Amino acid sequence: MNHTASAKHMIREYAWDLGIDGVGSCDAEPLMETRGAFESAVRQGLIPQESAPHPETIVRLTTPRSHLRGARSILSAFQYYHRDEARPADPSRGVIAAYTRANHYLDLKLKLKMLAGFMEKEFGCRTRVFSCYVTLAEKPIAGKAGIGFYGKHGVIITPAHGSLVVLGELLTDLDLEPDQPREPSCGTCTLCMDACPTGAITSPYMLDRNRCLQYLSERRGTIPLNVRDLWANRLYGCSTCQDVCPHNTGLSPTPREVIFGWVGDSIAIREILDMDEVDFRTRFRNNQIGIRDLGTIRRNAVIAAGNSRMDSFMPALKELTGDPDPMIRQHSLWAVAKIGGPAVRGLLEKALGAEPDPLVQRDIKSLLDGVARFA
Ligand code: SF4
Ligand code: SF4
Repeated sequence: MNHTASAKHMIREYAWDLGIDGVGSCDAEPLMETRGAFESAVRQGLIPQESAPHPETIVRLTTPRSHLRGARSILSAFQYYHRDEARPADPSRGVIAAYTRANHYLDLKLKLKMLAGFMEKEFGCRTRVFSCYVTLAEKPIAGKAGIGFYGKHGVIITPAHGSLVVLGELLTDLDLEPDQPREPSCGTCTLCMDACPTGAITSPYMLDRNRCLQYLSERRGTIPLNVRDLWANRLYGCSTCQDVCPHNTGLSPTPREVIFGWVGDSIAIREILDMDEVDFRTRFRNNQIGIRDLGTIRRNAVIAAGNSRMDSFMPALKELTGDPDPMIRQHSLWAVAKIGGPAVRGLLEKALGAEPDPLVQRDIKSLLDGVARFA
């Protein structure tokens, strides 16, 4: 279906009227370079083994036509979310990274669905819409469609809104004139690399996800001991590398009201430690945190509690050292040891005697070796 430039102009205008902050387009060919980069990252161990994508997942992520047979073009879109909020400093609260304080993805997806409806009616084409980075390799698509360029931190930077945007995609069998990719403009800057608390940006554009707090906070699994110490009071996500980026300074807050899934800039850690499944589903309904499991978010809260070194968390943490989930026992024992106190050695020794899981046993032995460090 060949409509190219005139169709794109109409689509752009309609997108703008819907409140989408920017769109670009590219072809729907497989993203072979991205596929190679994913495969290489897995081979090099730059993605934790527990969450490394399967080869078929990599192919699906990088093959737009596996999501819409006959797709010819991809419309990449973004929505700006910056709201000028300070990073909360209270250590008894877990910080939520700005991009996920509300569900901007859902907002953008619904707008893209309206745009898709317009295109189907106007051009008789087929469409499919995505937003939330789990189905398609959205950053490479955004780069190819000229939405922005990759910063050295591996996030897409748009010319007018920095990297403070969420991305979405609209696949179509319509032929749209492609946009040109943008030239990177980081220059000699290394601020994001210098600011990353864990050194996860090992070289420009190269991210070691084993150390990236953003990546780890979204997934189940063991957080390496040295990374737990650097976690601070994050509850979900990390934006340190974006906070220091010159492309994000001096930007005006969006006047757009938040529509879906607002959860605030932080949540009391105690609330997450005590939460049950029903509370979790209710609290994060409509927010993308709700697509994770309670165990993952509780593990994050446990680490934040440990780093706070507040005695008031001890009763809840001690209770969680007996949790049925080995991941929760493992991190709770660490947090108890981190807060410290005279009873910690005895508690760890008792836990070691009762612990069936070899990974947790290994952790407890390390904690016993280093317990003096926390005293
Ligand atoms: S998100 Fe956080 S941990 Fe990950 S690279 Fe950026 S600063 Fe480092
Ligand atoms: S902080 Fe500097 S190096 Fe990092 S993405 Fe921004 S401009 Fe590029």
